[in-house]
Amino acid sequence: MATKIHVFVVVYPVQGHINPMLQFSKRLASKNVRVTLITTSAYKNLNENQPTNPTILFDYISDGFSGEKPSGIADFVETFKNESSKSLPELIEKQRKTEYPVSAIVYDSFMPWVLDISKKFGLYGVSFFTHSCVVSTIYYHTSKGSLRIPVENGNVVSLPSISCLEMGDLPSFVSDLDSYPGVLKLVLDRFSNFEEADCLFFNSFDNLENEVVNWLSSKWKIMTIGPSVPSMFLDKRLADDRDYGLSLFKPDGDACIKWLDGKDSDSVVYVSFGSLANLEQDYMDEIAWGLLDSKCSFIWVVRDTEKSKLSEKFVEESADRGLIVNWSPQLEVLAHKAVGSFMTHCGWNSTLEALSLGVPMMVVPQWTDQTTNAKYIVDVWQTGVRVKAHDKEKITREDVTKSVKDVMEGTKREELKANALKFKEMALEAMSEGGSSDKNIDDFIAEIVTSSTST
Ligand code: UDP
Repeated sequence: MATKIHVFVVVYPVQGHINPMLQFSKRLASKNVRVTLITTSAYKNLNENQPTNPTILFDYISDGFSGEKPSGIADFVETFKNESSKSLPELIEKQRKTEYPVSAIVYDSFMPWVLDISKKFGLYGVSFFTHSCVVSTIYYHTSKGSLRIPVENGNVVSLPSISCLEMGDLPSFVSDLDSYPGVLKLVLDRFSNFEEADCLFFNSFDNLENEVVNWLSSKWKIMTIGPSVPSMFLDKRLADDRDYGLSLFKPDGDACIKWLDGKDSDSVVYVSFGSLANLEQDYMDEIAWGLLDSKCSFIWVVRDTEKSKLSEKFVEESADRGLIVNWSPQLEVLAHKAVGSFMTHCGWNSTLEALSLGVPMMVVPQWTDQTTNAKYIVDVWQTGVRVKAHDKEKITREDVTKSVKDVMEGTKREELKANALKFKEMALEAMSEGGSSDKNIDDFIAEIVTSSTST
């Protein structure tokens, strides 16, 4: 498709949001669309050191902070909003005089004020949701007051197209409304003007969340455009697209892959709690000794800031079976034939990556949307087991050992693996030529071509 359209993709500056929007940008660019990914100046140096994809342009807006960010999220968002509301229009203006004026803005749903800017310039505006469709729908009902907390009628949450959840499966900001009021406001503010957006994008795929996708589609114009995983791990249509790029952490890549190369197929447990988790000391101890007692080999991502929580005795005793790294090339690790399972905190990106690569999971959700993702992994998609039946109870080393055994051996493993492979197939189908997500991206391009030629 030959076009002169130009899309601004405006991201909220945290790793778990940058990854999917950057991947989406690469997909658009591969379809001959000019794409400028706009993030904060804090990412400028990072980008210059890690060239991501020559087909995407980058530009930067200020978040209003030259160094240390405020600890309260509300203060950060307020300043970021004020600053970006000045600098983003300047970038749009600058483009107006070029061969490639901006035709559309795809913005992180955490930044609803960008829609107002896009409307002011008469541009097609799309709100991009980086959470699952289910989680986004729960937040929608919370914002409208149609989900009342605490839930009446026993413990079961009943929402259109979502019927399987108990209180503890809701996102933690919803089940405990007072826990993080600043973040709760951020996730709910998205719904202040979303109905004015021309379209809503979700990093998910139709077959994964069929029921809720149907419900959302019956109310708004939505498109699933995921899973936003580098192409070489899915349809392989974007040559060289092997990682996200723009990473805040440097992976111990060679160390992980060399170590895995020496292991048998399906023999290694991969353990990671994502980029933000800060686990309590006794939690770390139980995971550590449980892994060791399982007698399986493992790679455990323990960020440098968390390393002091590992006991010397454990590090010594696990040396011949465990590899502890600060950060891994997670997709390469999950795709390695030696990896048999993934112990995960259930961040949405990690969840989609494990589903896309057909890896069974052990779930240890901590907070935010992870509790809901865990519920779907275990009970709806049936590609994982819980380490602890009730997340509120303390995890023990025996729980860890048992869950490793369940996922790595016997009939339970066979069931989980068969289901995981089904989702791998569906994820591949969605992103392949003519698949549901690929087709949605084509439809989006066709619409902006039409809307920019009619203005
Ligand atoms: N990740 C990685 N190496 C690691 C741990 C995580 O590359 O050692 C990546 C992972 O592939 C995913 C992202 O970091 O894309 C984490 O996002 P997620 O939504 O799973 O969790 P969050 O970090 O936002 O809690």
